[in-house]
Amino acid sequence: MAKRDYYEVLGVSKSASAEEIKKAYRKLAIQYHPDKNPDNPEAEDKFKEAAEAYEVLSNPEKRQRYDQFGHQGLGGNGGFGGAGMNMEDIFSQFGDIFGGGGFGSFFGGGGGGRRTKKGTNLRVKLKLNLQEIANGVEKKIKVKRHVIAPGVTFKTCSTCQGSGQIKKVVNTMLGQMVSASTCGVCGGSGQIVDKKPADADSRGLVIKEEVISINIPGGVAEGMQLSMSGKGNEIPGGIPGDLLIVIEEVEENTFQRDGNNVIYDLYVSFIDAALGASVEVPTIEGKVKIKIEPGTQSGKMLRLKGKGIKDINGYTRGDQLIMVNIWTPTNLTKEERVALENLRDSENFIPDPGKSEKSFFDKMKEFF
Ligand SMILES: [Zn+2]
Repeated sequence: MAKRDYYEVLGVSKSASAEEIKKAYRKLAIQYHPDKNPDNPEAEDKFKEAAEAYEVLSNPEKRQRYDQFGHQGLGGNGGFGGAGMNMEDIFSQFGDIFGGGGFGSFFGGGGGGRRTKKGTNLRVKLKLNLQEIANGVEKKIKVKRHVIAPGVTFKTCSTCQGSGQIKKVVNTMLGQMVSASTCGVCGGSGQIVDKKPADADSRGLVIKEEVISINIPGGVAEGMQLSMSGKGNEIPGGIPGDLLIVIEEVEENTFQRDGNNVIYDLYVSFIDAALGASVEVPTIEGKVKIKIEPGTQSGKMLRLKGKGIKDINGYTRGDQLIMVNIWTPTNLTKEERVALENLRDSENFIPDPGKSEKSFFDKMKEFF
């Protein structure tokens, strides 16, 4: 598998400042932290990948070499002895990333016995129209989160002395054994509320309405779930939960979506199809004029390249497919009827498919 670009891994630009790089890595480290993703090898890979990218980009000398020569410039497989970084290296970075105490302590520093308390996730539905989906969009979402009340203070839980656990020594046939259980008084956080404002609940939390900005990438689809790390409910002595955004597609009458392509049904008159014409069709980006060639048959597919939906994983874009339908008139006047009757027996009006006309199914095969 090809190694991904380190800037891409962290989701920052090539000109990102040291602070931006740190921030981006911090986010990913929380999102893919093994404590939050138990038994998820994919998350672990992402976690390691992000750590490796940060290891290089946070070091000015390594970053310069990488900018100049890419992965090759770092020697071998990025200079990490082939297998990338091990977990211990990664956790030892954390003091730097999260600052002493603070976040580092929730992760338990050196690796052993890590246990993170995490607030609950919030889930919101977000309706998007096809245009927003096609190009990606920045949305502001109103959420009600539990946050730690301003002015609330905590003190060490006296029941567990701040450890969050109650240890009991039990006598068994095999000798004395220590059993540990979560402290019921502080709920495992090791801290209890000391002083709190009147509107805070017993955990020291208040509900706060917040407007959160989110960048939706192009190409999302109905039912997809985006996650904003740390934007869920806060919890004393732990990290906040996540905000989960579930995508809903607004029903669309003009276009049909097929993956990254959009399909548009165009109706042209039998006269335009026979004589050729220039007609206006809507696209996601607005109207465009297209040419209908003289002698166009019903069912012909036209393609507007790149007028579809951005691919969520890449830089490509789908197309707009235009299916040409010939509109047969149903309400002819007497004069029109006479005019057409005069043409009925003309040889040129007798259907003669087979020479150059592909069947509908062949056309579908060609296009999809
Ligand atoms: Zn306690």
